[in-house]
Amino acid sequence: MRLDLTIINGTLVDEHGSRVVDLGVSGGRVAQVAMAGSLPSDPTTEVIDAKGLWVLPGFVDPHVHCRAPDHPEREDFASGTAAAAAAGITTILEMPIADVGVSRPAILEARRALAERDAYVDFGLYGACGSLDPETIHGLARAGACAFKIFTLNVPPARRASFEGITITREDDLYRALSIVAETGLVCAVHAENDALLQIGRERAQRLQLTGADAFLSAHPQAAEAMAVAWVAILAEATGARVHLVHMTSAWALDFVRLAKRRGVALSAETCPHYLLFDEETARTYGRWAKIAPPMRSAADRDALWAALDDGTLDILASDHAPFLPHEKELEDILAIPSGLPNLEAFTPLMLSAAHDGRLAMSKMVGLMSARPARLYGLYPRKGTLQPGSDADLVLYDPHLSSVIDTTTWHSRSRGSAKIFHGLPYRGRITRTIVRGRTVYQDGQLLGSRGWGQMVRPEPVRP
Ligand SMILES: [Zn+2]
Repeated sequence: MRLDLTIINGTLVDEHGSRVVDLGVSGGRVAQVAMAGSLPSDPTTEVIDAKGLWVLPGFVDPHVHCRAPDHPEREDFASGTAAAAAAGITTILEMPIADVGVSRPAILEARRALAERDAYVDFGLYGACGSLDPETIHGLARAGACAFKIFTLNVPPARRASFEGITITREDDLYRALSIVAETGLVCAVHAENDALLQIGRERAQRLQLTGADAFLSAHPQAAEAMAVAWVAILAEATGARVHLVHMTSAWALDFVRLAKRRGVALSAETCPHYLLFDEETARTYGRWAKIAPPMRSAADRDALWAALDDGTLDILASDHAPFLPHEKELEDILAIPSGLPNLEAFTPLMLSAAHDGRLAMSKMVGLMSARPARLYGLYPRKGTLQPGSDADLVLYDPHLSSVIDTTTWHSRSRGSAKIFHGLPYRGRITRTIVRGRTVYQDGQLLGSRGWGQMVRPEPVRP
């Protein structure tokens, strides 16, 4: 077979460990993974000598908000996927929040057209199952939804249209939605905070006239998360749906995830870099700039998250890249400030650096950001791994360089809101990102073209 590209002498690091290999690419896919020095060379083959570099499978980030079409000033598919490319993320799964929410097939198709026009990396699109209508939910699956998303809480009036069909606060409604999702074989991702307990938290913050971080920490009590995780786990078991809990933050909630897993429930869970790197002290220091939901918790919770990544209670890592512009974070009333941070360009550098520092084995860290999310979302082995037949999505990484996060160079349009990351040192650097055999990012430069990204469709798992 004629090879278009070979990457020689690189150290392939994946979930299984590391070895020095030559990698041959043909037609955008991995054709061969061979012992270093053994691939035939042909004058027409492009050769990248990766001696001294690591070759990593392209990362799969299943929790990204792009903001198109309603808020392109925050981010759109072009800027969001450019940020992903710079972070070695070759596939994003995009959340269904947009004006209006992706709760009907026609909205998903319009979203797909936008992403196909603008994306630099591959993408999947979530649908929402809050309509509780079987025809609509199956229609979303047929239209190519990569998964479903539900919030177990109500959102402020200003964001209601964007969340149309994405929120379910009643247990019986969630039972109905998960029963239909189970028939599709797709995953349902759930933002788990109990709406009634959030309301009590907000009332408490107002009654005590709390300000700054104390107000939003109070407005998102740990009990709200643990309560929602417990009932979501029960409903996952009752319906047989494959349920994924996004952004876990606390030891309390993790105990319910463990219990469900022991019972054999098809429940998975993720956490995000900000919960692993920071805690409520950061929330207090940065106030509005650290306002996310759920909020950062105690140092003990942070340590419990690291332990849960190691013992398998947490299945994957995701960014929860949620861009808002600085002026949107500067509202007077801190409880009215939208929750979320842009972080794609901090996520992978800081997580790989943490592995360098010994927080987790490097092979495990790489797997948590590649093979594991690809498997969970039915994209493996096309994505998340470098084996013959897989898409040639890969990252070249120089483990010897070190640097500091400089948010002024980010591709994200909301870079000005990423204050908690600015100036953080990290070890190792992503030097090149390749999507289906084509370089889309190299040494700080975006080299890909808009529209190169293709939609990925999962392999459903039916019971
Ligand atoms: Zn999110």
